[in-house]
Amino acid sequence: MSTNSNSIPSHATIYDFDVVVVGAGHAGTEAAAAAARLGARVALLTGNLDTVGQMSCNPAIGGVAKGQIVREIDALGGLMGQVIDETGIQFRLLNRRKGPAMHSPRAQADKKAYQQAIKTSIEYYPGISLIQELVEDLEVEDLPSGRIQAEESIVPPATEQTQPGFRKHRIRGVIVRGGACYRAPAVVLTTGTFLQAIMHTGEAKTAGGRAGEGTTQGISGALARLGIQLSRFKTGTPPRLNAKTIDFAATELQPGDDDPQPFSYLTESITQSQIPCYITYTNESVHALIRENLHRAPMYSGQINSTGPRYCPSIEDKVVRFADKDRHQLFLEPEGPRTAEIYVNGISTSLPRDVQDAILKLIPGLERAEIMRYGYAVEYDFSPPDQLLPNLETKLVEGLFLAGQINGTTGYEEAGSQGLLAGVNACLKIKGQEPLVLSRDAAYMGVLIDDLVTRGVDEPYRMFTSRAEYRLLLRQDNADRRLTRLGYELGLVDYDRFQRLEIKEREIGAAKAQLDAGRVDEASGTKYLRRSEVSWDEICGHIPELRSYSREVADQVLWDIRYEGYVNRQQLQVARQQRMSEKRIPLSFDFQAIRGLRNEAKQKLTKIRPLSLDQASRISGITPADIALVLAHLS
Ligand code: FAD
Repeated sequence: MSTNSNSIPSHATIYDFDVVVVGAGHAGTEAAAAAARLGARVALLTGNLDTVGQMSCNPAIGGVAKGQIVREIDALGGLMGQVIDETGIQFRLLNRRKGPAMHSPRAQADKKAYQQAIKTSIEYYPGISLIQELVEDLEVEDLPSGRIQAEESIVPPATEQTQPGFRKHRIRGVIVRGGACYRAPAVVLTTGTFLQAIMHTGEAKTAGGRAGEGTTQGISGALARLGIQLSRFKTGTPPRLNAKTIDFAATELQPGDDDPQPFSYLTESITQSQIPCYITYTNESVHALIRENLHRAPMYSGQINSTGPRYCPSIEDKVVRFADKDRHQLFLEPEGPRTAEIYVNGISTSLPRDVQDAILKLIPGLERAEIMRYGYAVEYDFSPPDQLLPNLETKLVEGLFLAGQINGTTGYEEAGSQGLLAGVNACLKIKGQEPLVLSRDAAYMGVLIDDLVTRGVDEPYRMFTSRAEYRLLLRQDNADRRLTRLGYELGLVDYDRFQRLEIKEREIGAAKAQLDAGRVDEASGTKYLRRSEVSWDEICGHIPELRSYSREVADQVLWDIRYEGYVNRQQLQVARQQRMSEKRIPLSFDFQAIRGLRNEAKQKLTKIRPLSLDQASRISGITPADIALVLAHLS
């Protein structure tokens, strides 16, 4: 039951905090840490202390666009970057041969060590109480009937108007199994794949959000009773194999980089030795076997109806959707140096066990492989994220924030970044301060959240570089230059980290001045360096003082100079967009009252409640003519 305070039993134990975070996965741990950095007293409640920061699926952090997000989390003082630097077993910078906007760091993790390191960081984090509790219900109180609470920070004043059906409740806390109550004016839900979750392997179905774990029942009901809609998605995971039963000689070796690059701006270098991965392939016989057994795959037998991640398809999906391909690449990824478990990236499946066994027998190197954990798919409830404001607070329940897979995303990095911003905003909310909403030109995190709250999702959302219109600005190498100052001003980032940035900026400035002053072939060093064939080492030959700068500083100088023209063009577009985003729309704005506005536009605008003209223009199906009418009405 969504309880209001008078139905809590009088004998219930009540604990008081500033912020309660539910779930200690990737979103929850970043949320708790961020809120604590801003000075909140945080209760981080999670169903099982042994799975804090657990990687449910692949033992890796980063990748294309995701690596950029990890760098942003780090630039704002988050956990993920430093922990993967400590526990990574193979580091690679993907897309090295492409331009810097596409460079994406990725690392295999020692999965158990990663999970333990996140847990230890949280245990010792000042301001966080990490407690094993299963949350079963939400406690809310009623707001005076139909009154819009003026979000002074988001909405201009004088917005307390009557608008039935909008924001009737305010969060008070959560109720855990056994009846105790954790109270706080802000609650962040980060329950991942656990809401009413069902796991499928062939015809077999079991309740649970992750192999070996249970499911969460109460929260879905509580959200639904508060008017928050839920929908279902599915995701899947591949089998894990025992390394001693794999013939690695029949596979291709995939080593890490010779010069592993850290994720965190605080890590000087990666010193641990790296472990190789291996590559093998499916073949026509595997595909034929899968086709013969499709009727036993839950996605095809009708046992699962929900949508899965299009860009991370199961092997049965790949065989059907890419029928002309005669093979698919599989990466054999060690789950750590102290375990024999090998994750088979590329063969996520919910086919029955006997089919999984039979498939492996047909794959080079895996003919005698023993499965230690069978692949499975999981179906779970999520809350369509267009029900959130840009600070990740639900539109219907004041003080209730959602982050991570519960918002219809997939991936640790997407979850971690939402967690961080939800934690920050929960804290800013209780302090009565302006929310932190990152713009699309400031961070991939900004793109992610804007996409979620403005467009919603119709399949599990993962980040791609193509989702960012300003990707030349949003590079993995400059996340600190984009975000750390802001983090410092907010109190999210400590002085040491900020000082490192200041020193780096000073060195970048000094190197640029030396390039301007230096002469090469009658031209300035700056002009000479603009030529695409000139390397940093070559320019150092002409201007030897430049040799004293670190690789990190040299890269910034090189890219700043070489991409200056493109960056300036993107900055102009940003400035145009900025003017639109300055046109604020009050939360209480009545789109229904705009004469001449199409009904479809009225419905969409009323549902999303954009907070600026710029956000309104990005809602799918909203035309420039609709925007002109809204602008006229606003004026
Ligand atoms: P989670 O990491 O799931 O953490 C949720 C936390 O909440 C857990 O600690 C849980 O114990 C806790 N919790 C839940 N309910 C309660 C409650 N009532 N009270 C207290 N605590 C609670 N991502 C990809 O990018 N690619 C993939 O291919 C992929 N495949 C996946 C396959 C499977 C089978 C699963 C389970 C996940 C997969 N993921 C994949 C998703 C990835 O694991 C998630 O995106 C990521 O873990 C989400 O982080 P989160 O913090 O939102 O949730």
